[in-house]
Amino acid sequence: MIQKYEFNDTTQLSPHFNAKEFRCKCGNEHEFSVFDELVQKLEQLYAALNCSKIIVTSGFRCPAHDKAVKGSGTGQHTLGNAADICCYGQDGQPISSKVVCCKAQDIGFRGIANITAAYQYTHVDVRPNGKWYGDEVHGNSTVTDDFYKYFGGEDMKGIDVSVHNGNIDWGKVKADGIDFAILRAGYGRLASQKDEKFEQNYAGAKAVGLPIGAYWYSYAMTPEEAEQEADVFLSVIKGKQFEMPVYFDLEEKKQFDLGKKQVSDIMRAFLKKVESAGYFVGLYGSASSLTTHTADDIKSWYTIWLAHWVDQTNYSGAYGIWQHSEKGKVAGINGNVDLDICYKDFPTTIKSKGLNGWGNAPVPVQVADAPKTESTVTATIKIGNDTYKGTFVKE
Ligand SMILES: [Zn+2]
Ligand SMILES: [Zn+2]
Repeated sequence: MIQKYEFNDTTQLSPHFNAKEFRCKCGNEHEFSVFDELVQKLEQLYAALNCSKIIVTSGFRCPAHDKAVKGSGTGQHTLGNAADICCYGQDGQPISSKVVCCKAQDIGFRGIANITAAYQYTHVDVRPNGKWYGDEVHGNSTVTDDFYKYFGGEDMKGIDVSVHNGNIDWGKVKADGIDFAILRAGYGRLASQKDEKFEQNYAGAKAVGLPIGAYWYSYAMTPEEAEQEADVFLSVIKGKQFEMPVYFDLEEKKQFDLGKKQVSDIMRAFLKKVESAGYFVGLYGSASSLTTHTADDIKSWYTIWLAHWVDQTNYSGAYGIWQHSEKGKVAGINGNVDLDICYKDFPTTIKSKGLNGWGNAPVPVQVADAPKTESTVTATIKIGNDTYKGTFVKE
């Protein structure tokens, strides 16, 4: 329903939005309209993005003001259906419009557009019919059916490599359609156990502009040993910049033999230490180890890199990257290489938050979305001769 308000009305419309935020900014003190569905959806967006505040830079516009700001004079702002907003995260920084567009799409706004080249301001509206998914940096037309695809946060193809992959021709790798790489930085508790090809791979991938992350392979049997591994890992990656998360890789049988509680304590010790140092850190694990040996608080807080070498995974938890094969063939690499798919726009999040060497990040930081904000995917899964359909949570 459209609601009408006098210019001086300061009714609190919802927990985070007041009527006066939507009034026209033309300078004439006239009445204005706000569609109540717009406010409801803005509240949903506020929760989904875990905002500290949302500033409405433009709400209702009279036809004259709409024309003055280069609108048509009859657009959604003149009907009370639209708001231009800037969303702020818990760190006080603006959330990228790329992320806002994706969440606004999930929530069901019918008009959504990035407004500025800096990707800080977003137009959202609840137009009565039709759909407009725009990016005003590239004109006024609809640019996509799916912002996740448009902004490249979905279906990025990647590889993960170590000394075992030998010398890599990174130019050929990129030309073969690889969008990112996760590099083994090393293993264990000694600085001498830095991966022998880590520096070479880091320099090679950077030289061709591939987004990269890193991982550390663990042999820790106690939380104290995991902290020592974290210290060595931090010293190895110091001064470097990563567009993708950095990961803790725990997969030794003797570690799993310690049981779920001890394994989870070891994971938390490493992850907390690296997180506190300003890194977007996550956990690598197989579908079974994530299910049987990883406590829920770890999976809901840290981003997951799922290892499951099947055509379609039936892992039901959330994950940001899926390692789906260990037998990939990629130009520029001799032999088999691990293949990964990334479902999130990690580079935008990591750079905007100043993590992974991109700035001085406030600590501690929340590095993964809570499961409630994650979208689901519907997939058909084959196990042996059985086929079944299911809905799975996806980060
Ligand atoms: Zn006006
Ligand atoms: Zn607008």
